[in-house]
This record gives sequence, structure tokens and C-alpha cells, in this order.
Amino acid sequence: MKITGIKTFLMHAGSPSLKRWASDGSFGTQSFSKNLTGTRNWLFVKVSTDEGIIGIGECSGWPRVLQTAVHDLTPLLVGEDPTHIERLWQKMQIAIMGHGMTGVVGAGAMTGIDMALWDIKGKALGVPVWNLLGGKMRDRIRIYGHANTPESALSLKERGITALKCGGVSNPVAKVAQLREAVGEAMDIAIDLHGPPWLTPADAAQVCRALEPYGMMWVEDPIAPENVDGYRRIRDVSAVTLAAGERQATIFGERELIERELVDVIQPDTGRAGGITQMRKIAAMAEAHHIMMAPHSGSLGPVAEYAALHLLAAIPNGLILERIEDDWEGRAKTVIPHPVSKDGHLDVPNAPGLGVDIDEDFVAKWPSEMNVSVPVSEASGSYAEGTFSEHVYVQTRRKRGVYFKAK
Ligand SMILES: [Mg+2]
Repeated sequence: MKITGIKTFLMHAGSPSLKRWASDGSFGTQSFSKNLTGTRNWLFVKVSTDEGIIGIGECSGWPRVLQTAVHDLTPLLVGEDPTHIERLWQKMQIAIMGHGMTGVVGAGAMTGIDMALWDIKGKALGVPVWNLLGGKMRDRIRIYGHANTPESALSLKERGITALKCGGVSNPVAKVAQLREAVGEAMDIAIDLHGPPWLTPADAAQVCRALEPYGMMWVEDPIAPENVDGYRRIRDVSAVTLAAGERQATIFGERELIERELVDVIQPDTGRAGGITQMRKIAAMAEAHHIMMAPHSGSLGPVAEYAALHLLAAIPNGLILERIEDDWEGRAKTVIPHPVSKDGHLDVPNAPGLGVDIDEDFVAKWPSEMNVSVPVSEASGSYAEGTFSEHVYVQTRRKRGVYFKAK
């Protein structure tokens, strides 16, 4: 079998307004679909072969840029046997090496192609991708939803979802206390503290200690991803469960967090961490350190979500999958079939390959326009009073007397 070509399908996901950062407080509320999905793009790729088998994949590390990157990589892959996935991954890595440390952007382009190669291999052999990864550990995958208010948290609970994640740095301890009171002890709660602005390690350590009484599923991205040593500082003073890793790609990007045991949960993004080839290696590295995997899913679309289901079905340390069910009604119309959650879980697909396709006509109805986020709003309170226009990347907390308390 030989690869004959690669097509890309870029779409704007959501209503046409500017996307604000989740830390503006709209994360998981009912206004999510109006304000948070505006400039999010999804990029799907289809790899065709001379035997008529077509593989599908998705790239999530800045989709508008990745479309060009995938087209650049295509001539290197045409004529190759798509079943030799590892060799082709190495070939792509060498091809983009001259651009420097490309991070999730370079890895994102490779991810969509790699995912499509696994899809082709599964279809050629007549088995689901989870079977290629060692077989099933589980038939269904537990999911968590997003909620920032007691109302949206209770809405998840009513639908049978047993875990939630809130976000934002404006007043995290008070927010978690309020959510815990609303949903009770039976629901797991996580919080994502990603910026802007990011917390300093000293502040993040205090927040983590203050969150300990709430039985957190995890505290995610408490500090900026560049500050790996800051995680050690938090670790040394707090027993809270830490999660990170969505902004790194490949085994090389996730290596320090795992090998230095700086997190309890590793969160590579299924659309930009380097493909199923890298995800399974990251999972194995984490397993050796008793670290669980919970793939990031906030910015990616429904094809990469399928890839995550196959992966989580097969790895022993698969913990839970992030799932944004309420972001945009078009999510369900983008793929066939669309997975439907039941009792807080998604069933693992059993069709050959990934078991999913996109509706090309629907995708074509949503052309891409731009693909960046706008800052949080001043009203969100993420920045200290009077400092919003500075737009700093990292900021220390003020009003410390109230910030680290539940009330
Ligand atoms: Mg996150």
C-alpha cells in the first residue's frame, strides 16, 4: 500500500465572535457557546492510499498555521507505505527540525498525519485502533465536564456526569468552595489555574494548600509551563494532586514533568502531542512513575476525541477524558457518528480504525477567519485591580488576606 495524497479540512468552530480566554470566568457557564468558541479552529486531515483506504486525523496546535505545515510535509509522505508509522514519524520530525524547537505547532502537524496512519492500519487489518495498542482495558471511558457556577455544575450532575473542572485565577479557593457545597462529596472537582495571568510559584503554592480540604481531583497548570522547577516548590509544601502537560508535545516535552515526578496526572493534548505514536509512549513513561493520564481536550475537535477514546481504552493508567459537551451544537454535526455520553461515560468505538469520519459538507459551511484568542476582560477580575491594561503574562496576587481563603 502507498500513500497517494493528503487533504486538509480547516473549519471555524463556533459562532463568529472573538474567543476570550477561559480565565475570564465564562469557562463552563451557559454563555460558553456565545463567547468562548469564536476563533477556535479545527483542522482535519485525510490521508489517501492506492488501495482506496482513507485515514482521518486531526491537528490542534494552531490549526490555521498547521494547514500549511501539513501541505509542506505531504511530498515527503506520498509514495510511502502508510503502515510503517514509526519510520514516517521519524521522517517528519527530521523534516521540520530546521525550524527549531517547534513544540506543539510542529508536533500538531505530525499528529494529524500520524493519527490518520493509525486509522489506515486499523482499517487495513479490520481492527479498531485500541486493538493495535494492545487491546481493551475498558469498554467505556469516564468523562468530566466544565462548570464554573453552581448552576452549570448541577446541570452536569443531573446528566449523570460525575466529575467537573472549573477555571480561572480571579478567586479560585472561593469558587471551589462554592462548587463543592453545591454538588456535594460524590462529584469530583478539578480546577485549571492557567493564565492569563499565570500565578507566581509562591502564590500557586498557597492556593494549592488552601484547596487541600476540598478533596481535589487535581489542580491543573498552577504555574506557567516554562517554570518546571516551580512545580517542585509547590510539591514540597502541598499534598494536592497536580496535573499539567497540555502545552508540551512528544516524550521529550513531557519528560521532565514525568521523570521528576512533578505531577500526578499528565495531560498531553491528543491533537498536538505528536499523535497516537507519541501518546502511547508518554503513557508508558508515566506508568513507570505511577502517574495517570487524562488527555487535554479543550481546544481540539471530535476526531482527536475519538483518538483519545482508543488510547484510554488500551492504557492501564488512563484516568479520565476532558469533554466539552455544551460548547457548540456544531460539534455533533461535524463527525459521523457523534459519540453520546451515558452515565458520565463514552463508549469505546469498535469499528475498524478510529471508527469516525467528518461530514465534509458541514465542515465547508464554516470557513476559518482567524485563530487567536483575545485577552480576558477587565470585569473578570483575573488581573489585580488597576493593572488590566498591562496584560502581563505572570502576576503576583494582591489582597492576599482574602485571595487564599474560601470566603
Ligand atoms: Mg488546561
